[in-house]
Amino acid sequence: MSVGPIQDLSKLCIHTITTKSWSLEEAGENYEKAGVKGISVWRQYLEGRNIAASGDRLRAHGLGIVSLVRGGFFPSISSETRKKAIDDNLKAVDEAAALGAEMIVLVCGADPGQSLEVSRSQIQEGIEKVLPYAIDNGVKLAIEPLHPMYADTRSAVNTMEQANDMAEAIGSDHVGIAADVYHLWWDPHLEKEIKRCGANGNLMAFHICDWVSPTVDMLNDRGLMGEGCIPIQKIRGWVEEAGFSGYNEVEIFSDRHWATDQHDFLNKIVKSYKGC
Ligand code: ZN
Repeated sequence: MSVGPIQDLSKLCIHTITTKSWSLEEAGENYEKAGVKGISVWRQYLEGRNIAASGDRLRAHGLGIVSLVRGGFFPSISSETRKKAIDDNLKAVDEAAALGAEMIVLVCGADPGQSLEVSRSQIQEGIEKVLPYAIDNGVKLAIEPLHPMYADTRSAVNTMEQANDMAEAIGSDHVGIAADVYHLWWDPHLEKEIKRCGANGNLMAFHICDWVSPTVDMLNDRGLMGEGCIPIQKIRGWVEEAGFSGYNEVEIFSDRHWATDQHDFLNKIVKSYKGC
């Protein structure tokens, strides 16, 4: 299936980290003015706030609250650290429920002091420990596979295949996958694994941005859609063909764009979104 440019904004969601310097209130107001329809809230933007009231305020701006970002970071060589991670993820469930966010995106974690296999088994164990509480609170958990350049400390889940294996092994309708083009675009098995994910009912979220070449920072040099080399439209076609009909979430960490006027940046996001 080939899809054309998106053009309309009905499924445009933005992650609050994308407009880093804006408070949650500023983001809500400015996103509404720009025609954005969804918001994914990073947890630091909730600090010091009444979370339920913040959720109501965002919804009053006409924004669907797509996800809370982020939980995870389960693996560690220290059992004490692993236990702390569970507590923090339970707290994230409380926050997501209060905010009215449907899911928590999991940056699963890794510890360079142990093998990736051990880290992956600790991730699965961590998710299974948090899951009953998430189910009780009506919150879903989305495993986000990260690019292998982050396999040392950020995630031992690096491909859609590994995320599929884990979600299927857990086998809960409250555990699925967040597919982010930045992390996955290079994978020769991506089309097949996205279809597998959809067929199993595990495709929960779709994140977009672009891979700038040359990349000058491993974390904070993501590009606007169209600035880099990711075939976003092709991947979106696979995602839609796999049955996904949720938001397209723009998630850009960029020192370059953060240094510019954020209103101009938001206009550029909307423009590049329409064409991608
Ligand atoms: Zn993402």
